[in-house]
Amino acid sequence: MAAASAAREILRRLHEVMAARTGAEAKLNQVVQIVAQELSSEVASIYLLRDGMLELYATQGLAQSAVHVTRLSMGQGLVGTIAATRESLNLAEAKEHPDFAYRPETGEDDYHSFAGVPIVRRESAIGVLGVQHREPRDYDEVEIEALQTVAMVLSELIHGAGLVDDAQAARARAASSGPLRLAGLKLVDGMGRGTAVFHQPRVIVEHTVADDIEVERQRVYSAFARMREQIDTMMGQAEFVGGGDHHDVLETYKMFAYDEGWARRINEAIDTGLTAEAAIERVQARTRARMRSIEDPYLRERLTDLDDLSNRLQRIVSGQLGTAAASGLRGDTILIARNLGPAELLEYDKRFLKGVVLEEGSLTAHVIIVARAMGVPVLGRVRELFADVSDGDELIVDAGNGALMVRPQAAMIKSYQAMSVIKARQAERFAKVKDLPAISRDGQRITVLMNAGLAGDAQALDVTGADGIGLFRTEFQFLVSATLPRRERQQAFYRSVLEAAGDRPVVFRTIDIGGDKAVPYLSGAGGADDENPAMGWRALRLALGRPALMKIQARALLEAGAGRTISIMFPMVSEPWEFAEAKALVESQRALLARHGHDLPLAVRYGAMIEVPALIETLDVLLPMTDFVSVGTNDLTQFLFAADRANPRLGDRYDWLSPAVLRVIRRIVREAGAANVPVTICGEMGGRPLEALALLSLGVEKLSITPAGVGPIKALVRSADLGKVKAAMAGWIDTPGVDIRAALLALATNDAVELA
Ligand code: PEP
Ligand code: MG
Repeated sequence: MAAASAAREILRRLHEVMAARTGAEAKLNQVVQIVAQELSSEVASIYLLRDGMLELYATQGLAQSAVHVTRLSMGQGLVGTIAATRESLNLAEAKEHPDFAYRPETGEDDYHSFAGVPIVRRESAIGVLGVQHREPRDYDEVEIEALQTVAMVLSELIHGAGLVDDAQAARARAASSGPLRLAGLKLVDGMGRGTAVFHQPRVIVEHTVADDIEVERQRVYSAFARMREQIDTMMGQAEFVGGGDHHDVLETYKMFAYDEGWARRINEAIDTGLTAEAAIERVQARTRARMRSIEDPYLRERLTDLDDLSNRLQRIVSGQLGTAAASGLRGDTILIARNLGPAELLEYDKRFLKGVVLEEGSLTAHVIIVARAMGVPVLGRVRELFADVSDGDELIVDAGNGALMVRPQAAMIKSYQAMSVIKARQAERFAKVKDLPAISRDGQRITVLMNAGLAGDAQALDVTGADGIGLFRTEFQFLVSATLPRRERQQAFYRSVLEAAGDRPVVFRTIDIGGDKAVPYLSGAGGADDENPAMGWRALRLALGRPALMKIQARALLEAGAGRTISIMFPMVSEPWEFAEAKALVESQRALLARHGHDLPLAVRYGAMIEVPALIETLDVLLPMTDFVSVGTNDLTQFLFAADRANPRLGDRYDWLSPAVLRVIRRIVREAGAANVPVTICGEMGGRPLEALALLSLGVEKLSITPAGVGPIKALVRSADLGKVKAAMAGWIDTPGVDIRAALLALATNDAVELA
């Protein structure tokens, strides 16, 4: 309690200083006096970062003639070390510290002990507050904490007075933190360079000293209640969005959210006179300090969770709930997040988004598909991401090599630029084949279509040289919209796609919402009520259950397709009757439009997506009803292996080149061939060179893939002798124990197949 009352007294006096109508320099002089008095120290000094140097700005006890004269660079002397590491120092004998730098002009010869804390704003040091004593003594924790509290208030004061430039401080921090290379998993290939922006920005505490402690206490109290409610709700839905890791994290969150110790520490900080925000940050700073000193990876991770939860509490208390998308991106950006939903990603301006780095993430999660469609490289599963990267850091994402360069040195930037040139040359090479047909060395014509879903994607047809759009994910338009898109808007959108495609085919897939594609305005879809949304009320199930929605979309599609042939495909068909019902529903709308004298499509082709294994057992019933089928390998493998596609732990567990997947696809291709029904493969699998080669070897003739894959896959087809690969595959697929991936890779390499 003595500690609390000492800190309270300091804060009370600082409150008066802050409120006074004096200039910033005078205030800083008063602060050093208060600190010296309250800590009974002979010296108290403030150094500020000016023009990249730490300048003595105010002092009580050192020579006044040294003010604005003594300057230290980042990392130089004790003060420079504190600023560079953003960690406190507590020394009984300052001179014995290896970084001690003697400054005769200050007259500090008489002092033995030294304690200093960084003054931080936006995670960068903007200055240092230090005290010195004649007696050699260690400072106790209460004194260090009092200094840290004063440093928070000083940060507010210094920023308010414009004494330090934030951007300059960020540059100085980056320069002194040094470069790092973090490893991750390639989720979307590519390279990008930009500034780190956190999807959930950290709240900047603007007011540190409380006007009314009771008000602050109440604010924290209700923020805790709200946070606990949120966590309970998330727990309620938890088994869904990824289960596994996600659930464990929530368990830990819950434990901390209800932890009395944490709430008590925040309350104690408020008792000393801090605002709710400042108190949360004060306690968070302690957690971070502990984090740095703990080696045990498990404990460290738990503390990281607590840190994350502190950020959440901070956002609630300050009302700053928006993501970085809300404030808009200003320059080339690398987005940092634990995980993202597809709709969240779509909120960002594609022009500035040069890369995404996730702490979690898995290959076939929809957010990754969206990123691929946007052409944004994504690196996932980067551990220590939040500990090692700060807002504003310069980053290079090299997803292909599974690397994130943090604060890269000039040499790294050069090699990045060189790589970009090579990539551009490769792109040029693909550009050369883009207008050539995908005909294999042995004369087989393969149709290479692309997947699309975003406005502007259809324009990419010319750029990629795709033969058409084999999968248009219409739900993307629903995901980016805050409310249900009206029929007119849907219609105009579909028409613009058809117009951009010209005479190239476009296959529209009716909305596939649910699973990891939740939309706020459709309650019940995508997790809220389903225990297991991937297998829940999603896609066609939802569309048939809410026919009004499907009818509107059907009319919009039919109107948009007036005067041409259009193709409509239904997702997640599990049984043939669902397909029949969906088709009947669209037909009913066609009849309705006809009755009202509307222009209609010349013909409508209906297709089913094969994504649910049960449907494969009833292909004999389904195929005669359809005009075409398309295999969604993302969902099909998810259901085939009972492995959630959004769960990072399962991301690389099952191989698309395993016999189970290949045999199932072979069966579909054979049965559809016998029934004369064209088959397309439209999951992510087809966009990967080796996987595409395997599909072609099974007799697949149409691939619909991510736009960036079109060039490389065309080049692959043109360089391959498919007859040869087919013969080899026929031998491998039924022979137990063959490592098909290795065998295919060896064959492709020997046969000079271009694998990009
Ligand atoms: C699939 O499941 O493979 C597919 C193409 O559909 P989506 O990825 O949109 O679920
Ligand atoms: Mg699917």
